Amino acid sequence: MPKPHALDFEAFPHNTVTTYQRTLCLACVADAFTKLLGIPAKKTVQEMKGYTPAIEELTGSALVRPYFTSAEDKPHCPYCDSSSRKHAVITTHSIEGGKATDAPRRKLIADLPTSQNQFLVLEGKSTHDEAFFTWLEKMARLDSEDEQWIRDVTKAFLERKMPREDWDQVFANIYMIRRSARLAEGWEVDARRLFLAPPLYWETVAIQYIVSRSHHGGGQTFEGRLTLQDLVNRLRHSGYLRYIGIATHNPGDVFEALMHHLAGGDGGVKMHYLVDRRDFLSKLKELKISEPKKAAPKKAPAKKVPAKKAAKKAVKKAVKKAVKKTPARKKK
Ligand SMILES: [Zn+2]
Repeated sequence: MPKPHALDFEAFPHNTVTTYQRTLCLACVADAFTKLLGIPAKKTVQEMKGYTPAIEELTGSALVRPYFTSAEDKPHCPYCDSSSRKHAVITTHSIEGGKATDAPRRKLIADLPTSQNQFLVLEGKSTHDEAFFTWLEKMARLDSEDEQWIRDVTKAFLERKMPREDWDQVFANIYMIRRSARLAEGWEVDARRLFLAPPLYWETVAIQYIVSRSHHGGGQTFEGRLTLQDLVNRLRHSGYLRYIGIATHNPGDVFEALMHHLAGGDGGVKMHYLVDRRDFLSKLKELKISEPKKAAPKKAPAKKVPAKKAAKKAVKKAVKKAVKKTPARKKK
């Protein structure tokens, strides 16, 4: 069988896709079914195959059983001590919705293999603020010691703000970025210099401040190194704060309003989660599950719940129970 190919996100604007990986212990999940619920092995496999993880489990920072962080030096499950053969990696690609990503996303999804539900497509909503913070986290990873840093941050911001422009192309042909004295809005390239209209220029300064603040005492910007007070003063004197309707005076309040404005204001953005289950399915195929010790208890004919929903509910319940019963790191 050919090796599962990595997904190609080349067609997406930069920084619109965030990838998360979570390691899941299949032995923990199987145990919850067979030992706690007394469900036969074959049925357990079926239930596990139909399992839809919650978005928070796949992208959130809190990991609870059966999820854990896998480390090279500690390849065993922290909950049940199983070996890495029983661990599956679920990869989730979170795609920010919007005009710039709609077409490449549809094309990517249309081309995915579907015969065994190798991929799940989940949807969620995120506020503009949340999406902005995810983006800022990516920016904070850029090397601030690099001479190119300020240029990279500026380019990334312009890509985020105007994703349809080919900024790779624009930046390949400029050597300098300046505030325009002519333009009222937008940008232009003249004699290999990129000119930004004042509102756009001041936005880039604010972004540079916000991103660099996380690694320096003050923010490093086109305007030199600035404290928050310096930044607010400049944004006020330039007329930018008035232009975007920020009238408060306290620098902290201005900063908060500015962040919210830069994020895109009120409202939200649709998030598309592409969950790659290929490793999960292939590991599940290899998993040996022992039958429950006692015969499965006769189930009372409960309310009829659709099979998929029931499976999801059962997994959640079982996992919750297992977490309560077995503290992390307890050995067999
Ligand atoms: Zn485990």
